Amino acid sequence: MRQNGFQIEHCRPNCPRSACDWHNLLTMLTQKLTELNLQQALTAKFDSVQFHHLPKISLAGCPNGCSLPDIKDFGVSGYVVPQITDIPCSGCEACARACLEAAISKKSQGIVLNTARCISCGDCLRVCPTGTLSAGERGWTIRYGGRVGRHPQFAKVAGQVLTDEEAVSWICAALQCYLEQGQPQERLTHFLNSLELSRVKSESGQNARESRGAIF
Ligand code: SF4
Ligand code: SF4
Ligand code: SF4
Repeated sequence: MRQNGFQIEHCRPNCPRSACDWHNLLTMLTQKLTELNLQQALTAKFDSVQFHHLPKISLAGCPNGCSLPDIKDFGVSGYVVPQITDIPCSGCEACARACLEAAISKKSQGIVLNTARCISCGDCLRVCPTGTLSAGERGWTIRYGGRVGRHPQFAKVAGQVLTDEEAVSWICAALQCYLEQGQPQERLTHFLNSLELSRVKSESGQNARESRGAIF
């Protein structure tokens, strides 16, 4: 959907595989981006604002990324970390069968989770009949700099945040940086290519979640 000076896409509503509900994030982001007056700011930067000048953002409920967050200026996808509780496991191995990443295996001591393979999609949680597996931390993975066209490239992972507010704040800070420091005629995708994310952090006061690898 094209809004006033930006475009936000999202995956289908009420998908049973969603790790995080993106509806509130969509509402907040739309409001904040509208307040940035992007159409007006882009008009000052370009002679004529074309579709390829618009910031493009994708929201996805889980790492499957059906709304293509990997090829947008900003991609936000939900994650949920599985955790093993004290509730006795039945040994059904439904979780291992459900995991497309082969991140779960059954050992003599019980279910073992390989956190290096796990992409926090939550598929295993939905099939566990006992509650041995339950939802741990939920949040958003933020990507930036993806595009299609003459020189396509996948978006890079910037980091992970826990709340809708943090995700919105990060995207708005990066866009504000572009509006203020991007050159006349400079497209957002080219600006993002050269952007040092630490610059966004230092200028916006964003909090990084360095424990999970956030670098902004
Ligand atoms: S990205 Fe995940 S939540 Fe969204 S439509 Fe695809 S599977 Fe469903
Ligand atoms: S969250 Fe997804 S990737 Fe991780 S163990 Fe469960 S099914 Fe596998
Ligand atoms: S799905 Fe649940 S009960 Fe079945 S093996 Fe996995 S953790 Fe155990």
